[in-house]
Amino acid sequence: MADVESSSAVQPPSSTTSGHIIPLLAAAEILNDNNAAQQATASTSNLSQQNSGSNNSSSTTTSMTVTTTPNVDEPPAKKQMLDHPSTSSSLSVPPSAAYEKLESRLGGILCCAVCLDLPKTAMYQCQMGHLMCAACFTHLLADGRLRDQIATCPNCRVEISKSTASRNLAVEKAASELPSECQFCSKEFPYKSLDRHEQHECFERPTNCKYSRIGCQWRGPNHETSEHELNCLHPNKSGYDVMAALEAHDAKIKEEKKMFNTLIDLLSYEKIIFNDLQMKPYRTDEYVHKLFYETARFSAFNHQWVVKARINNSQRDPHQSNERNITYQLILKTKTTTPMSIHFFALKGPFSDMKVGTQICKHDFTEQSTESDYYVLPLPDSNECNRLLSNKGINFRLLMFLLNK
Ligand SMILES: [Zn+2]
Ligand SMILES: [Zn+2]
Ligand SMILES: [Zn+2]
Ligand SMILES: [Zn+2]
Repeated sequence: MADVESSSAVQPPSSTTSGHIIPLLAAAEILNDNNAAQQATASTSNLSQQNSGSNNSSSTTTSMTVTTTPNVDEPPAKKQMLDHPSTSSSLSVPPSAAYEKLESRLGGILCCAVCLDLPKTAMYQCQMGHLMCAACFTHLLADGRLRDQIATCPNCRVEISKSTASRNLAVEKAASELPSECQFCSKEFPYKSLDRHEQHECFERPTNCKYSRIGCQWRGPNHETSEHELNCLHPNKSGYDVMAALEAHDAKIKEEKKMFNTLIDLLSYEKIIFNDLQMKPYRTDEYVHKLFYETARFSAFNHQWVVKARINNSQRDPHQSNERNITYQLILKTKTTTPMSIHFFALKGPFSDMKVGTQICKHDFTEQSTESDYYVLPLPDSNECNRLLSNKGINFRLLMFLLNK
C-alpha cells in the first residue's frame, strides 16, 4: 500500500496526494523556522563574543573560560552520541547538559571520531555514519595496508575503503562555522577563518625579528616586533660580527644553487630517459610480513629495471610509529658488462599528486653492484606519506641520466 502511494506522489497531484503533501510542507516550514531561530541565536552569540573579544584584553579572560570547558567535555559528548544513537532527542530536550552551549555540543557531535578534532579539510563517514577527518581516514587506510588487513571503522568495525566511505559536506560546512579558539591569543573565530587569523592577522603570533638574516635570534609575539626591532642591537653590529650569520645564510642558498646547476648539467647529458611508473604494494614472505612497493619492469638504456620502496626502512612495526617516510632504490635487472653511472630521481609526473621535493640520487651500476642505496623520497611530512600509502598504488615519474664515459 505504501509503495502505491509513494509512486503516485510522483505524478501530478490528485486530490488525495495533495492532501498528504501540504501538511508535510507545512511541517518542514515549521522545522525550518525552528532551525532559523536557533541559528539566529547561535550567530548573534558568536557576534557578541567576537566583539567582546576584540574590544579589550579584560574580556578575553571570559572567552577563555568559555572555551576551555567544551574542550574538556567534547570527547564524552561524542562518546555519548555513539553509544546511544537515540540521544539525538537530547538535542531538543537537553537533560543534564541544559547549560552547555549549543556550539560546544555541536563541536562534540561534528568532530572526528578518531582524533576528536574538528575537520580542517574533508570529513568522511563510514556506512553507519561515523565521522573521521581526512587525515585519520587515510591513516586508517594506510594502517590497513601495512597490517595487510582491510581497514575498519574504529567505532563500529564496518569495513571502510575509498569506495564505501563518503564525504559529509554538511558536517564540513557546519564545522567551518563553529567558533574556535586561536592558539596564540585565545580569542574565538569561525573555524574556517582561524588559519588565516593565526598565520597572518593574530597580534600574538610568533614572529621573527626582521634582522634575523644578520643573526638576531629574537622570536616573539607579533605586536612586540616593532618595539624589539627599534631596540635590536643587530643593525648596529659591525660587518665583522654579522659575517657568521650571513655565511650560514649564503651556505643555504649555495646548496640550492648547486642543486639547480646539477639539474642543468644533467639535462645536457646525451642519454636521458623518463618513465611514468606505478609502485604497487607487496608483502615479504618472512615470518612477519613486511610491506614493500615495487614497480613492474621497465626498460631504459637497453636494460631492464625496477624501483623498490619501503616504509620507515622496513622497521618491524611501522604502524606503531607516527613518523613515516618512504625510501626507494633503483635495481638493474639485466646483466651489464660495462659499468653505468646513473643519476636518477623521482618526481611527481603527470599522473600523480604526490608532493615530492627534488633530491638527486646516483649509483654506479656494475655486474656486481646492481642495486642502488635506498634514498629518502623527500615528502613534506608523515601525513603525505600516509596519503600515498592509502592509495592503491604510488604513481611517479622516474628521470634517469646515463653518463657516457
Ligand atoms: Zn581525525
Ligand atoms: Zn562506523
Ligand atoms: Zn589570535
Ligand atoms: Zn632583533
